[in-house]
Amino acid sequence: MARPLNILFVSSEVDPFAKTGGLADVSSALPQSVRENEHEVRVIMPRYGSINERKSKLHEMIRLKEVPVPMGPKPRTASVKSSFIVNNTIKVQVYFIDNPHLFGRSGLYVHPDTKKDYPDNDERFIFFCRGVLEVLKRLGWQPDIIHCNDWPTGLIPAYLKTVYRDDPFYRDTRSVFTIHNMAYQGVFPKSTFPKTLLPPELMSMDGVEAYGHVNFLKAGLVFADAITTVSERYAQEIRSSEEYGAGLQGVAEKRKHDLTGILNGVDYSVWDPAVDPLIPLRYDARSVDLKVENKKALLAKMGLPFSPTVPVIGIISRLADQKGFDLIGEELDAIMKMDLQLVVLGTGEKKYHDLFEKAQKRFPGKVAAALTFNNDLAHLIEAGSDMFLMPSLYEPCGLNQIYSLRYGTIPIVRATGGLDDTIEDASSPSGTGFKFKNYSAAEMLKSIQRAVAAYADQAAWRKLIKNGMAKDFSWGTSARKYVQLYRNLTRK
Ligand code: ADP
Repeated sequence: MARPLNILFVSSEVDPFAKTGGLADVSSALPQSVRENEHEVRVIMPRYGSINERKSKLHEMIRLKEVPVPMGPKPRTASVKSSFIVNNTIKVQVYFIDNPHLFGRSGLYVHPDTKKDYPDNDERFIFFCRGVLEVLKRLGWQPDIIHCNDWPTGLIPAYLKTVYRDDPFYRDTRSVFTIHNMAYQGVFPKSTFPKTLLPPELMSMDGVEAYGHVNFLKAGLVFADAITTVSERYAQEIRSSEEYGAGLQGVAEKRKHDLTGILNGVDYSVWDPAVDPLIPLRYDARSVDLKVENKKALLAKMGLPFSPTVPVIGIISRLADQKGFDLIGEELDAIMKMDLQLVVLGTGEKKYHDLFEKAQKRFPGKVAAALTFNNDLAHLIEAGSDMFLMPSLYEPCGLNQIYSLRYGTIPIVRATGGLDDTIEDASSPSGTGFKFKNYSAAEMLKSIQRAVAAYADQAAWRKLIKNGMAKDFSWGTSARKYVQLYRNLTRK
């Protein structure tokens, strides 16, 4: 049998330690699933100030204190702490790279109050990328694969191909770069380049430069040995148009032979109403009648009245342009004319905070918004809503619509990226949700109307719930695809 591989999974967010979106869910679940395939997987992330040392059981690693990290304008030092993701029988080691000056703050990328990017994000993530490679050498743990994720890790493949090219420690190491979202690129002014200490020729079209700026995502795209995105559809989309490629479509197209789509899975030990400890009443496909108790609890929590015949639409999301909330703004009055209720959980751009705050005031008893980050409430919304709305402009994979399927909460989605890959329209006998094609408020409204009409037809609604709950998006299949990719790269 082929020998187990050493895989280092690098991410800027990992559940349950730090999370702003789906990247954290993937960075926790995928390593566990690869571990189940008998490979040695370790995870590495920044040690943010918001991570509670005691709660997260962080331990100092005496050997890894004050590791020098070369970077401009001056070198810095990294210390490493360690903990585990523990889940039933699986245990995955997680390292936290610490530099209090750069990461000792509560936000991951933006200041929690101003919502503005930290001005030194370039230095923070240069330090992280270079720090990962320096720390590994100190640790003496030689990875076959370094699996990088999104722009905060994009410089690692570039370092491996240049600064560490002749380093015997990394001679057999290959890199994988997964794009969870092509629109967040880590773009910095030219003055950032010297801080990376990359060779000067990399500040060019063939290197890390894009449109006169330093682009960390491009670094990953150009230099990784293999590139993946989180759905097959999105893998095609990002190289086909400016709209999805966000200016890097040409670079993605150039690397099309090394670019594949592997759909994200779901960790059903966390997101399944049959075992979810965060909801008042557990249920499965056979006891789905109990779901209504969660609906009552959700509405009570949100201060909305309960009626068994009025459907509740849930939204859980980063409040960003990508997620399609301008469509809701456009048709809010028409949506609210229908007999339904809307529960929103989200945080992000101010204009969307304003939209939902106003909606809540204008439609008391019908709309309730929690404009914050709250994992417990996210689980309750999945369990207590009848429908889940995701009208995204683009969606690399999207996890919430897949969680919704398992919770018997019918997704209403725009047919883009992973939403299109995972949801089948109710017009088919095996349908699981409601889809609309064009990014149009009128089309979204029609889908909501179709959903509300279907809700009134008990038999039709039950069929949808049954189809959705029977779907299996567990990580097994996708994790095996990643392992195959790792194997192909290392040929071991
Ligand atoms: P994205 O990665 O683009 O944010 P996904 O649908 O892939 O979108 O994943 C979103 C993840 O983040 C889900 O686990 C969802 O429950 C969680 N999430 C998003 N916003 C919030 C919030 N305000 N409070 C709690 N969880 C949230």
